[in-house]
Amino acid sequence: MVRKKLIAGNWKMNCLSAEGSALAKDVATAVKNNKFDCDFLVCPPFTLLTTVKKCLRGSKISLGAQDVHFADKGAHTGDISSLMLKDLGCSHVIIGHSERRVDHFETDELVNKKAVAAHNTGIVTVICIGETGEQRDNGETIKVCESQIMGSVPDDATAKNTVIAYEPIWAIGTGKTPTAADVEEVHAAIRKTLAKKLGKATANKMRILYGGSVKPNNAAELLSLPDVDGALIGGASLKAEDFINIAKNACK
Ligand code: PEP
Repeated sequence: MVRKKLIAGNWKMNCLSAEGSALAKDVATAVKNNKFDCDFLVCPPFTLLTTVKKCLRGSKISLGAQDVHFADKGAHTGDISSLMLKDLGCSHVIIGHSERRVDHFETDELVNKKAVAAHNTGIVTVICIGETGEQRDNGETIKVCESQIMGSVPDDATAKNTVIAYEPIWAIGTGKTPTAADVEEVHAAIRKTLAKKLGKATANKMRILYGGSVKPNNAAELLSLPDVDGALIGGASLKAEDFINIAKNACK
């Protein structure tokens, strides 16, 4: 099964307008000037969605947000709905990132509700899962990922509206990564769980990204693994050169 790789940048809570515009323009120019055999997605903070959308005009780079509320509208101060994201030109949204699960106590059930809302609006979800360092040390990685998939992914998710991002929490922003063999073992187990939940055909088509300290120098190895269909990139997505070099090393 050929799954086109997705190179996705999660800018997190970084960049004011000038910096964000420059970064988006640099990425758009580099993507236009090179031939990549992959899809691109950038997910700036809410405040920059409109600015970045303008900078990406004419490029094939998709725009995503980093969170969404499960309701379409109403009394939810400070929240943003999937209709609002759609209105701003977003095609994707990251849901259930470990930083939201920790900082905002997001549960699998809530992540699932957010995903349903996004899918109903026609927005593709990037649903994040991954174990803590302690769970890894206790040999619970696969059990934790299985349980997060079963709970966070809607029952009627499809390969068109859902991307999974496996992000071991201990690898995020630390410069540490699992071995390639460990990454492939977890991704294969995730695909098996997706098959149990959604059927084999859907599981075989669904993209599973790896995230956690992906850099230009480790991207080729990690993204060459059979069940790794791209990367969700934090720190290295804030430098256009690094972000593009990840794609160059892994998708050319
Ligand atoms: C992330 O948080 O989505 C991430 C993968 O971060 P980093 O690449 O900085 O580890």
